[in-house]
Amino acid sequence: MVTRTDHWLEKLKSTDGRVTDARRAVVDVIVSSPRPLTPVEIFDAARKKHLHLGLVSVYRTLEKLEELRLIQRVHQEQGCQAFLRAGVGHQHLLLCERCGQAVLFDGDDLESLFSRISQQTGFEIKDHWLQVSGVCAECK
Ligand SMILES: [Zn+2]
Ligand SMILES: [Zn+2]
Repeated sequence: MVTRTDHWLEKLKSTDGRVTDARRAVVDVIVSSPRPLTPVEIFDAARKKHLHLGLVSVYRTLEKLEELRLIQRVHQEQGCQAFLRAGVGHQHLLLCERCGQAVLFDGDDLESLFSRISQQTGFEIKDHWLQVSGVCAECK
C-alpha cells in the first residue's frame, strides 16, 4: 500500500533525488496532523522518530513541500508560520480556536460580495484566500 507519506517522498525525490530518514520523519508528522504545526512543533515531534534531525532540515523540507504545494501556510496571530497539509484544488480553511483542528471545505458563494467590493474600490478581483475560525463540533 502506498501511503500519503510515500507519495510525498516520491514527489520530493523528483525535485532533488533525496529521500532521507529525516525527511520521512518530517513528512510523517505533517501528513498525520489534523492541525497546523509550526516548524518547531514539527521538529519536536519528528525528533522522536529520528533522533539526529536538525531544525535546518525541517525548514528545508518545508520549503520544498511548499514549492510542491503539498502544504499550505495557515494564518495565526503571530504570523503565517504554521503549516498544514494542503487541500485538493480550491478549498477554504476552517480552524477551531479551542483544539486547533483544521477542516477544509469547498464552495464559493462570494461572487456578489466580490462584485460589490469591485464596484466600491475599482479593483478587478482575481484571487482570494479565505480562512474562517470558530469552535468545532467536539469543542462546543
Ligand atoms: Zn475543537
Ligand atoms: Zn474560494
